[in-house]
Amino acid sequence: MKLLLFFLIVLSCFIPLKAQEYYKEHIKSEMKRGERSLRLNKIQYPGDDRFDVTYYKLDITIASVAKKKISGNVVVNGKSLADSLQSIYLDLQSVLNVDSVLGKNGKLGFSHLDNKLHINFNSAINLGEEFSIAVYYGGTPGSSGFGSFEFGSHNGAASIYTLSEPYGASDWWPCKDTPADKADSSDVWITCATSLIPVSNGKLIEVVTNPGSTHTYKWKNSYPIANYLISLAISNFVEYEQYFKYSETDSMPVIHYIYPEHFNQVKPELDKTIKMLEIFSEKFGEYPFLKEKYGHAQFGWGGGMEHQTVSSMGFYAFNPSTISHELAHQWFGDKITCKDWHNIWLNEGFATYSEGIYFEALNGKNAYKNFINTEMYYAKLAKGSIYVKNISMVNEIFNSYRSYAKAGIVLHMLRGVLGDSLFFRTLKEYANHPEFSYGVAVTEDFQAVTEKVSGHQLEYFFKQWIYGENFPVYSVYWNYNQQDENNYTVNVHINQSVNSNPAFFSMPIQLRILTQTQDTIITVFNDQQSQSFSFTVRGVPYSLVFDPENWILKEVSVVLSAESDEQKPLEFTLYQNYPNPFNPSTKIKYTIPSSDSPLLGGKRGELITLKVFDILGREVAVLVNEEKAPGVYEVEYTPLNTHHNVSLPGGVYFYQIKVEDYIQTKKMILLR
Ligand SMILES: [Zn+2]
Repeated sequence: MKLLLFFLIVLSCFIPLKAQEYYKEHIKSEMKRGERSLRLNKIQYPGDDRFDVTYYKLDITIASVAKKKISGNVVVNGKSLADSLQSIYLDLQSVLNVDSVLGKNGKLGFSHLDNKLHINFNSAINLGEEFSIAVYYGGTPGSSGFGSFEFGSHNGAASIYTLSEPYGASDWWPCKDTPADKADSSDVWITCATSLIPVSNGKLIEVVTNPGSTHTYKWKNSYPIANYLISLAISNFVEYEQYFKYSETDSMPVIHYIYPEHFNQVKPELDKTIKMLEIFSEKFGEYPFLKEKYGHAQFGWGGGMEHQTVSSMGFYAFNPSTISHELAHQWFGDKITCKDWHNIWLNEGFATYSEGIYFEALNGKNAYKNFINTEMYYAKLAKGSIYVKNISMVNEIFNSYRSYAKAGIVLHMLRGVLGDSLFFRTLKEYANHPEFSYGVAVTEDFQAVTEKVSGHQLEYFFKQWIYGENFPVYSVYWNYNQQDENNYTVNVHINQSVNSNPAFFSMPIQLRILTQTQDTIITVFNDQQSQSFSFTVRGVPYSLVFDPENWILKEVSVVLSAESDEQKPLEFTLYQNYPNPFNPSTKIKYTIPSSDSPLLGGKRGELITLKVFDILGREVAVLVNEEKAPGVYEVEYTPLNTHHNVSLPGGVYFYQIKVEDYIQTKKMILLR
């Protein structure tokens, strides 16, 4: 699921006022609904644990759009988990009226109190024995959370839809309202006016035309399904069908059900779905519901929801990030479902991170890095642990900073810890795990898969990032001493500010050290609040970059500490550029001696020029032309010919520094 709040903030400066209003109104009504659901004290968790659901069949008629009424029956098949099971309960909101409950041999006694439908069997069910009951009911469905069952409209036509996550399924149908117990399969039959097309999970098996201008659509899902992923979306849709060709000979339909007035506008976005299916199939293993379909059904909520085989999408959700997010949920959320809402990050963190995987596959490393930077910004706003402590509040479960941004960044950090190969093997192994795939999982299950694939002990990682809070704040001090003619000892001291939980973070950290002759990345394992590391490099070190690939959610300050000679250069120096040869850019470092240096004669502020010449001695760039105080400087050179604003050809160039009568020239090579 993805609520488009960020989108609203980012776009509010240039989306039309009407759309802004739509969002504001929408968010207000969301909040109202949230409050109402809490007042109703409807949270029922984790459902009756005396039986295991095996099958649901919903046969629902939209009885009256004007009166917002439904009627129908729901078949629940289950297996007893108790000896001599006399009764069970299903979750069903009390505002709905139950007419009768049928068992194998006729009517069963029931009572419907406090949103629970208690059903008594005529004869006890043995342990492991199967039973089947049918609940006949009707009324106006309740609405909680994000609006579990809505009678809406668009452009004069009805739009009736559901969004049950997390606790809304029992607002409109009797079920065991917990993600922990999946049915092995499900059917949804919907009867409505012939002007409307009802869409649900799985394959459309049959359309029956009834007397009185109604028809019945029979949808069949043959895969395990969590109750909150069973959905309805009903409107006067345009149907747009594509094919995902997943092998030489096989393809799967990708079907979009869109409001007619929006179809032309959203079609270019819909057309990106096939490529996403290719990318995610390669990364996570084959699409989980390949025998059935994928697709989208438009609905009136301001976001997207990953209903199994058919994501429900608001108009503004038709953008690459939300489309890829909901598609990724088909693996992480639908195929593997979080066992409880405490572990919602296994759904939302994975779907959020998958957006980055899509951008990276499509547009490369920089697109990925930009995505990560944005998510890190929001991740830093997260308060409390990713593991949701208070699951009685819908807004706590779906906190966008924690369950989405920070949880997504946890996967980015895990990728940093494991490296690409082990990380992607882990994701694939998890998505296809014999126990968890088409089942449910908690954090420890994912951790176990990660540890098995990688051979690493990762208790520290999950404990601090999933159950802990905040992120490390590092202060890094470094200096160096010369060992001999070529070798230098680099000393790095890493200090972490004291955090609440954990007190400090343990992480492998990459340090990139640049010397005149080397570019080295050293990985240290930082597992103390305050810790020192030393290592030897060749050449004078002139730069230390902490976590150069930005793997870690953090704040950091890096200081070259005062003991280092570097602070007080004694003479003019022009260093060899780095890297060399280079393309597209290189760095040139130079020092201006301090005034107490005998070489400078007590003067402060020198006019410095640093210029680049081609092999024929023609000036091609002026990098510095100003007065500089004593110190160490570095300038980055990206060789455009600054005089003509054209790219320079590859080859040998010279760079020359001039300070009064000090002139020094060095050679560098541009690669093209
Ligand atoms: Zn989501």
